[in-house]
Amino acid sequence: MYEVRFYKGDYRERQRKANEDDCICYVEHHFNSSSSPSANYTVVITGSNASQTSKNWGRWYAQSVAREFDLRLGGDQGIKIGGYNGRGDNNLRLTEMPAILLEPLFASNPQHAEWIRSDERQSWLARILCESIQRFFQHGGLVAFSVGHKYKTSRPNDLGAKVYGGGFEAEYAEAVLEKARTMLEEIETLQEEREIKVVQGDEVLWKQALDPDADITWDPVCCVLRIKQS
Ligand SMILES: [Zn+2]
Repeated sequence: MYEVRFYKGDYRERQRKANEDDCICYVEHHFNSSSSPSANYTVVITGSNASQTSKNWGRWYAQSVAREFDLRLGGDQGIKIGGYNGRGDNNLRLTEMPAILLEPLFASNPQHAEWIRSDERQSWLARILCESIQRFFQHGGLVAFSVGHKYKTSRPNDLGAKVYGGGFEAEYAEAVLEKARTMLEEIETLQEEREIKVVQGDEVLWKQALDPDADITWDPVCCVLRIKQS
C-alpha cells in the first residue's frame, strides 16, 4: 500500500533523491511564525510550477485543518503558489511529483502553540495529512516526507521558529510526520469506497463503507449521526 521515506540533506538534494526514487508525492512540514501573536490562519505553499493536483491537494489539506481547528484560510483559498516572495518555492520546485509545504498552525500564537505541543492535536494533523494522501494518491506507493529546517547539510543546527511555551518548529513537525508515517504504513486496503469513521486521537474506533449517494447529518444536541439514503 504505502511506504514512507524521510529525505534529509539540503532541500534540492531531498527533491533530487525523491525524484530518483519515483515517489508518488512529497510533503514538507513546517509551522508558521509571525511577529503578531494573533496570526490565526492555515496555509499550504506550492511551487511556482505546481500542477493542478498539487494545488487541489494543498487546498483539501488546508480546508480540512481549518475545519477541524476552526481557523481562517490563508493565501488563495488555502494555498500560496510560489511561496512568500519566493520563500518556500525552492523547497518544492524541483520535484517531479505533486508536492506541498504545510504551514497548518502558528508557533508564535499561544493557542496554536499549545496544540502544536499536544500529542492529541499532532495526531489530528497527522490524520488529516494521511487522509489527504489516500484521497489524492489512491493507488499507494512511496511517499516522501521532509522535515522543514532540520537535517540540512548547509545549516545543521537550524530547527526553525521557536514554539511559544517551549521547543522548536522542526521537532514538532517531525513528530507529526512520524505519526502520519505510522498511520499510512498501517493501511491494509486502498480506499476506493466512500467511508465513514469514528476517530479518537490516532486510533480509528469504527469504520464502515458508505453509499456514495447518501447524505449525512450530524445532530450535535442529540449526538446522532444520521445517514439518509436517497
Ligand atoms: Zn519553517
